[in-house]
Amino acid sequence: MQRDLVKELEKTLGAEKVLSRTEDLSCYSYDVSTYQHLPDVVVTAHCRDDVVKVMEIAARRKVPIVSRGSATNMCGATIPLHGGIVLDILSMNRILEIDRENLTVTCQPGVITLDLQTAVEAEGLFYPPDPQSLNMSTIGGNVALDSGGPRAVKYGVTRNYVLGLETILANGKVLRSGGTTTKDVSGYNLTQLLVGSEGTLGVFTEIILRLLPLPEAKRTLICAFDDLADTSRTVTKIIDHKIVPSMLELLDKISIELIQRYMDAGYPTDAEGLLLIEVDGSLSDVDQQIDTISKLSRECNARDIRIASTPAEAEAIWAGRRSAFAALSAYKPVVVPEDAVAPRNRLPEMVARVQSIAEEYGVLLPTFGHAGDGNVHPNICFDPRNEVETATVPLIKDKIYQAAISLGGSITGEHGVGIAKKHLFGLQHSELALQMMQGIKTVFDPHNILNPGKAF
Ligand SMILES: Cc1cc2nc3c(=O)[nH]c(=O)nc-3n(C[C@H](O)[C@H](O)[C@H](O)COP(=O)(O)OP(=O)(O)OC[C@H]3O[C@@H](n4cnc5c(N)ncnc54)[C@H](O)[C@@H]3O)c2cc1C
Repeated sequence: MQRDLVKELEKTLGAEKVLSRTEDLSCYSYDVSTYQHLPDVVVTAHCRDDVVKVMEIAARRKVPIVSRGSATNMCGATIPLHGGIVLDILSMNRILEIDRENLTVTCQPGVITLDLQTAVEAEGLFYPPDPQSLNMSTIGGNVALDSGGPRAVKYGVTRNYVLGLETILANGKVLRSGGTTTKDVSGYNLTQLLVGSEGTLGVFTEIILRLLPLPEAKRTLICAFDDLADTSRTVTKIIDHKIVPSMLELLDKISIELIQRYMDAGYPTDAEGLLLIEVDGSLSDVDQQIDTISKLSRECNARDIRIASTPAEAEAIWAGRRSAFAALSAYKPVVVPEDAVAPRNRLPEMVARVQSIAEEYGVLLPTFGHAGDGNVHPNICFDPRNEVETATVPLIKDKIYQAAISLGGSITGEHGVGIAKKHLFGLQHSELALQMMQGIKTVFDPHNILNPGKAF
């Protein structure tokens, strides 16, 4: 059957777009998660027609199809759990139009997030969503996982910028939803339903995103604390004073140390907690926000506040944060970045709960995250050769999410459900909600060929 499928794909799309050698398949058997499974065949799509043809073949044969961007997701969302076809969309990487009058950009799904940001900034425009993988991740992957980043605290996540989609459905039909208008209340919002669907409802082939004018100025400051509780308390206090920084990130002591070991980001390694903060707006606005945040941080016992004096200094501070995952990987062979969310005002409790879970199991759980959103990433670091360490991983993981749910939060703020959180889905959603979601899935994909085994 596999040989037959490969032959049909080669005949329909051209042999150069079809990969079936074991060494090629193994490159598509993993992503950033710890899961692995071989696909039967890989197709590299170059245009919408390629996607339509592959989908028609998959639908007729009832073969699973998993779309894949850069595979930087952390939840196993691109693992072809049931084999079948992996659809690589990285070659569909053109920015089709930057529309300055409507403040939109239209692109193909394989555009790298940073490339899109750089292209619109050259026009004085701004695309805020900034997953920390932005130099690798694709816009298609960002939309499918509704990715966010440090700027979510002020600007929201990918969902808040998606205006329109062209989606290839499980039967090969082309669905166009939304458009370049910012207002449209006609009918159910299919575009927003598709955002965050983890490749389980269709394959995006064109994406229309909303843009903003580029802010006039921005400044970065870093506040060091001797107590992690003071660090998270400062976050709540800043928001309570009606200041919404453009980025507001928290790092605990072990994360600070590991990042500094990996690169010199200028972080003080004797601090128990750090806040990395960026404010943006008009020049006068920015200065005022810096003054107020410095004052509030001091009131919460910040012992050291440093304002970056050059763009290069600010970039070093943020580069440190972006390399946090790589820095942790140098500490233990396997790092599982968890992704728990608590309501903003319960962030101090969430951070304290993570600390007590670490103490209970006698492990280090380096924690950093998008503090302004109550979204923290406690990282479970372990050595798979150590049976005792490995056995505690699922226990620690479940405790973290039980804590988040008991505080009124979520099992994932941005990394998605995929395989990793599937067993926790029922912790957050009622039986009725699950039935509604399953019903939607059946309408879009009656034969369950789109990324099967994920989320549900
Ligand atoms: C170092 C590092 C830092 C990270 N930081 C963040 C962060 O700050 N915030 C955050 O949100 N995430 C973060 N991530 C996770 C990840 O980068 C994001 O989820 C990203 O959006 C995935 O993009 P991708 O192109 O790699 O998608 P992939 O991993 O290839 O795919 C992700 C999902 O999208 C689906 N998909 C891909 N393309 C399409 C398409 N065209 N149509 C339909 N479905 C599609 C796939 O089937 C899969 O379900 C980080 C990852 C790493 C490695």
